[in-house]
Amino acid sequence: MATLNNDTSRDVTADQKLRGSGAIHVIMGPMFSGKSTSLLRRIKSEISLGRSVAMVKSSKDTRYAKDSVVTHDGIGFPCWAIPDLMSFHDIFGQDAYDKLDVIGIDEAQFFGDLYEFCCKAADDDGKTVIVAGLDGDYLRRRFGGVLDIVPIADSVTKLTARCEVCGQKAFFTLRKTCDTKTELIGGADVYMPVCRKHYVNNRIVIKASKKEWDSDKERAKPCVEAVDADPSSIGY
Ligand SMILES: [Zn+2]
Repeated sequence: MATLNNDTSRDVTADQKLRGSGAIHVIMGPMFSGKSTSLLRRIKSEISLGRSVAMVKSSKDTRYAKDSVVTHDGIGFPCWAIPDLMSFHDIFGQDAYDKLDVIGIDEAQFFGDLYEFCCKAADDDGKTVIVAGLDGDYLRRRFGGVLDIVPIADSVTKLTARCEVCGQKAFFTLRKTCDTKTELIGGADVYMPVCRKHYVNNRIVIKASKKEWDSDKERAKPCVEAVDADPSSIGY
């Protein structure tokens, strides 16, 4: 019994040491702003400090390779592709999880349980969580839970891309195709980074062409940008 009590007390002390010792860092921005590259840079820097690291991404995103995080410039890093973050603990295993210092999360907008996971990992388990994801969708609405973790984050970095039209700083992602699917995963074939001016100008052009196309439903079918799409859609 004494041994059990001692073990329990050691566990409690270990838990107390972990509580509140974690950190959350958020990297956000439009597509092509280098979020994954920045995440990989930070992860590699943690590895060079001797910390134990795991990378996670949504199993929805299989654009480049299944079990790796790959940046737009093709640089890869092994990672776990999982359907939701709360399953990570079970998939990874208790022992392996306990030994982890740092968890990197890519394409975080796809995880519905991002807030819950970050709270547990950083507050209770003492992990450093580095999160990369889109803050807004192609209609500039919040995308998933990335903005929700700002109040619990240690640091927030908003990256910019280069406007594909004028080369100035780009803050937004414009959808180029007429697909109205709820989640449309794609790269440069579907999306482009734009500055405010070219986002607004393109929206006006798109709205005008939608009006024109709507007047002829038969013609409207094949190509209408989703500017006025169902508000529940969360283009990517
Ligand atoms: Zn521009």
